[in-house]
Formats: sequence, C-alpha cells, structure tokens
Amino acid sequence: MEYRFLGNTSIKVSRMCFGSLTIGPLQRNLPLAEGSSLIRTALEAGVNFIDTAQLYRNYSYIREALRGWSHEVVIATKSYAYTAEMMRDALEEARRELDLDQIPIFMLHEQESEHTIRGHWPALEYLLNAKVKGKVKAVGISTHYVQGVLGALKYPEIEVISPLINLSGIGIQGGSRDQMLNAIQQAAAQGKGIFAMKPLGGGHLIAEQKAAFDFLLELPYIDSIAVGMKNEQELNRNLAYFNGEPVAEFELEQTERKLHIDDWCLLCEKCVKACPNHALTKTPTEIAVDPEKCVFCGYCGAACPEFAIKVI
Ligand code: SF4
Ligand code: SF4
Repeated sequence: MEYRFLGNTSIKVSRMCFGSLTIGPLQRNLPLAEGSSLIRTALEAGVNFIDTAQLYRNYSYIREALRGWSHEVVIATKSYAYTAEMMRDALEEARRELDLDQIPIFMLHEQESEHTIRGHWPALEYLLNAKVKGKVKAVGISTHYVQGVLGALKYPEIEVISPLINLSGIGIQGGSRDQMLNAIQQAAAQGKGIFAMKPLGGGHLIAEQKAAFDFLLELPYIDSIAVGMKNEQELNRNLAYFNGEPVAEFELEQTERKLHIDDWCLLCEKCVKACPNHALTKTPTEIAVDPEKCVFCGYCGAACPEFAIKVI
C-alpha cells in the first residue's frame, strides 16, 4: 500500500481510504462484529485511513475495529453543524464514541459554495479553536459541488477537501467532471489535501471498476480515495487494485442496489430536501427517484422521520 501526505498537512494516509458509510445503518447495516472486523482486516492490510460522518451513525464499528490496534489510524469525520454549540456537540460525540482524544480530520459536511462555508463559519471557527487545544489535527470540508471546492480556495484555514469525483462525473453538482478536476487541481496547488469520494459513482461504475480506479489513481493531485465496501471479497479486490496486483475475475453481484420507499411515506419532502444529488421529486402521489442521479448514499433515509426510504 502506498502512502501520501494529505497536501501540506503532516498527516500521512494510505492511498485507499476505508469509506465506512456502506457498512453502517444508512446502507448495509452489518452486525457490529462483522463491520468492525472488515475495518480491522483493512487495517491489517495496510489501510490507515477511515472516512466517516456524524450522519453515518457508525462510530461504534470504528471504535471496535481500533480496540487493541497500536498503529496510528487517520479518521476523517464530518458534521452538518453550523453553530459553535452544534460543532462542540459533534466533536465531543466523535471523541467519546470513537474513544479518541484527538480527531485527526474534522470537516464541514456537504458544503456547496463559499457562501455555505461562510454560513458555517462559527462551526469552523470552533474546530479551529479545538485544533489549538489539540482536539482536532486538521479541518476540512466535503462537497459534491464544483463551487464547494472553489469556495474552499478562499479559506486558507481549510486544509483538507473530500470532493465527489469519478470517471463519469456521476453525482457532481454545479459543473462537469472536468470543471471539478480543474477546481481540485487548484486546491491541491494551494497545498490542500484531497481525498476523493464516490470513485464508483455509488455503484454505477461497478462494471468498469478498473477504469474508474485507474482514472483516479493516475491523477497526481488526489492523495487518497475513499472506497465503500461491505465484505472481504470486495476489500481484497480493492486492495489488489490499489497495490497494483492482478485482480481476480469477479462475478458481479446480481443483487443491484435500489432505493425503496414504503407505502407509509407521508410525502413530507424531507428526503427530497436532504438529497445532495437532486435525485428525488415529489409528485401528487409519490416520491419519484431519478435512477441516473441517485448514488445510493442513503442520506435521504437519514432525513426521513418515518423510516420510509432506504437503500436496499
Ligand atoms: S422523508 Fe420519508 S415520509 Fe417524508 S417524503 Fe421522504 S420518504 Fe416520505
Ligand atoms: S435519492 Fe437518497 S440515496 Fe439517492 S442520491 Fe439522493 S439522498 Fe442519496
């Protein structure tokens, strides 16, 4: 496994980051022992970087995976907090539930532009103060938006960006794949650490996985790539890609992912507003999904008060 510094930070991460959204309650909801064991296997194989979020509700998997593990692990988490108080609670929750004194990377979740970053400034400022106190090592943002990356260029305090980028540009908001690449390149030139998310477009690129990984691995300004996986077969295959080893032929899983909406949906539209990819619309009788836009992130499910929408 190759390791790189995340931009100008002193944080060294594996090229493969374990994207933990997949194992938790928003997606596969693996039993705790199974999910934590998968993370532990990844750590034993040389992965030292785990991506999570307050929204994912999966800190317990990571805490269990780290139990008794003596090597340094870089955990990046994020929160939608926009006030100092909300961020204080989010940071303390992460420190408590991950059983860590210091969170290596804490980010503002899903920033859309310089304006949303400015709107979240009290939360970011809280993180910067927490950094001085040693509770956080580096701060950053995650974003699906070209303008989110461009907005971060105006804030030297933002050291790390997790942008959505993949071969086909699936899920990128506010511009094309190449516009996103251009923005990322500018951010990397400023010394910001870059770790890509959704390399397989939420599963849409699974059939062209090699090309999708090669595309990102060959971009010199992307330090690491967060890959979601749910079992050892996927983990081992992904490790082989990242280690430049031959990848065994793999029979694609027949069970395609889809978004399921139960008939007790109240049409409240909370999921529509929560979808970062504008994949949901409300019709007079139902919530309709645009399959071209949905990347199966599960964020809509987290927003539903009725537990009526989920990735299956
Ligand atoms: S948030 Fe839940 S109840 Fe509301 S419209 Fe969406 S699926 Fe239906
Ligand atoms: S519809 Fe739901 S799962 Fe699909 S992209 Fe939107 S939030 Fe994510």
